[in-house]
Amino acid sequence: MTQINAKIAICVEGDIGFITSDNAPVNALGIAVREGLVEGLKALNEDPAVKAIVLACAGRTFFAGADITEFGKPRLSPTLQDVIAALESSPKPVVAAIHGTALGGGLETALGCHFRVAVPAARVGLPEINLGLFAGGGGTQRLPRLIGPEQALEFCLSGKPVSAKQALELGIVDAVEEGEPATIGAAFARRVIDEKLPAVPVRDREERLAATRADPSTFDALAARLTARKQGQDAPQANIDSVRRSFTMSLDDALAIDAVANRELMSGGQSRALRHLFFAEREATKIPGLPESAKAREVRKGAIIGAGTMGGGIAMCFAGAGIPVAIIDTTQEALDRGMERVKANYATSVKRGSISQAQMDQRLALITPAVDRAAAADADVVIEAVFEDMAVKKEIFADLEKRVRPGTVLASNTSALDVDDIASVLDRPEDFVGMHFFSPANVMKLLEVVKAAKTSPDAILTAMAVGKAIGKVSVLSGNCDGFIGNRMVAKRSAQAERLLQQGAFPRQVDAALTNLGFPMGPLTTNDMSGLDIGYSIRKRRGTPFPIADAIVESGRLGQKTGAGYYRYEPGDRTPHANPETQALIIATSQKLGITRRDIAEAEMVERLLFPLINEGARILEEGIALRASDVDLVWINGYGWPRHLGGPMFYADEAGLPHIVARLREFAAETPDDPSLRPAALLVELAEKGQSFAVWQQGSAA
Ligand code: NAD
Repeated sequence: MTQINAKIAICVEGDIGFITSDNAPVNALGIAVREGLVEGLKALNEDPAVKAIVLACAGRTFFAGADITEFGKPRLSPTLQDVIAALESSPKPVVAAIHGTALGGGLETALGCHFRVAVPAARVGLPEINLGLFAGGGGTQRLPRLIGPEQALEFCLSGKPVSAKQALELGIVDAVEEGEPATIGAAFARRVIDEKLPAVPVRDREERLAATRADPSTFDALAARLTARKQGQDAPQANIDSVRRSFTMSLDDALAIDAVANRELMSGGQSRALRHLFFAEREATKIPGLPESAKAREVRKGAIIGAGTMGGGIAMCFAGAGIPVAIIDTTQEALDRGMERVKANYATSVKRGSISQAQMDQRLALITPAVDRAAAADADVVIEAVFEDMAVKKEIFADLEKRVRPGTVLASNTSALDVDDIASVLDRPEDFVGMHFFSPANVMKLLEVVKAAKTSPDAILTAMAVGKAIGKVSVLSGNCDGFIGNRMVAKRSAQAERLLQQGAFPRQVDAALTNLGFPMGPLTTNDMSGLDIGYSIRKRRGTPFPIADAIVESGRLGQKTGAGYYRYEPGDRTPHANPETQALIIATSQKLGITRRDIAEAEMVERLLFPLINEGARILEEGIALRASDVDLVWINGYGWPRHLGGPMFYADEAGLPHIVARLREFAAETPDDPSLRPAALLVELAEKGQSFAVWQQGSAA
């Protein structure tokens, strides 16, 4: 074994040369790896004993991708493209031996080799689209030459890795073999030498391009279908354009254009937003300030109290992760209703093909319905999801605490009750935590883990670990009215109401956000959830919304009654303009003495978003959220904020904090009765110092 540098070694056994990368943890293709690969390859090509070369990685994976910490920095030579070109032009055949995951630049490196073999557990993919990019190391040019432009397009636009078996079927790898990567690589190299297999570089394989070149209509139709729901996003179209170049121009011309196009994407706001979210998800799992000894407790069984909308969905999350779960309600009837809903949800998934019948059966078998709370006695975590009623919740927790082992995490899915008040009935409040799921709980990715005053570090870590196990993005929140997400959304709702009073109609308010890329506008969302929920909260708090209240009082509660802000045809969720509601809106403006005016869409966007951003800043200064990127994750995963816009605090940084402060001051002056519109101290301070939410840290004087 000869070390080329700290990361790359070479050796020769008989007539086979080996290049081994050892760059823990994931063999990212950083500069040292790239330099070593080029040098190692040169050395083996110069060694007359070597007839074929195996490229493999030590540790848990083949090259898992580019070194993401080099993104946005000046490019260092040799670039990944240089490495791939060196592999591809190697006079001696190179076999990539893949284990773990070959993603992005990792797969592109393998595509630069003459042959690819993989272990059965390996996975390969081009996830660049998830970061707002395309595979700019030639992936979009070489993959079509192996598997055809149409399959390559689907592969690039999905961004999802495929198994070794699928990769073999597609033609991305040449063989799948059990064994050590270097061993299976060597076995294939032996065949290459002995059987004189033709070592044609991928760049020279043109035969899979011929059909699309002759008739690109299938490709075009596929491209249109795959981007139909991705309006406003740059990366999908950039992927299509790049794959199209594979069959419309030479590889070198295409690579030259790719380099420019990908650099443009890389410096654009959308890719910046997506990269921000990539790091945000990693950050959110870290909870500073906990004692070293704190650790998550093992969760082998769960229990859910309440088999309603949320309870059933949460039980499905556990079953989906293979964790047995009891679901408990007061009557057999309520339980049966709940289980019917769970079964219907699964049946829909089977029909759509997202799970198999066998998977449905397995998951149902993990959910045990019960009317007796004794079924929760041996659970490691119990999540309460009953009516939003403090007395009912207190009774349940006081009783549960006597039934379960100390250390069992007791969690409430409350959306709006004070978690400290709930915990006040407990002898062991340290085991209590809020676990706020979003509806539909089996689908929505967000979990707000709400820390009550006495929640122990272990209970926090356990709730976060449960979130991870069941596939959620967990964000820690302090205790306050509405926690992170609903507290911010309340500010947007107030502005939507005000826009209606001042001159807008529902469709214009919603369009302001759907045109930005939100999947649904705030008023359509309210119609879907039911307008009575907000109404009863406002009545309780004495905070009227004259228009929203008038709509409810006229008997229109949203989709479920066929009318709300919009009108609905029976059995159809499409919102239609509702002339009666519009008349009611105009009449209410009149009653309030407001002269209605045309409001520009840009103003609506700012009025809907800046106040919620302002509340986000307050949430940060109060320490309710740990970091601005956590607030972004809440909105991305729970409230439909488009990923390519990065979340509200990222959006604020991009829009410019001084601009937001100035606009908020104008809104506050126009609306003196709403002090929440005055810019938060943190926002003002960051704006004045020319700083951003991205670099602000809890505890640092802003
Ligand atoms: P739901 O009305 O659909 O279900 C409540 C269930 O609890 C019913 O099946 C009821 O029979 C059962 N129940 C009532 N008292 C009980 C008791 N003492 N013991 C056992 N079961 C009992 O309500 P939901 O929409 O599922 O909401 C449940 C909780 O989740 C509430 O706290 C709510 O605020 C919260 N939440 C709801 C949403 C949402 O969008 N629906 C989102 C997040 C959080």
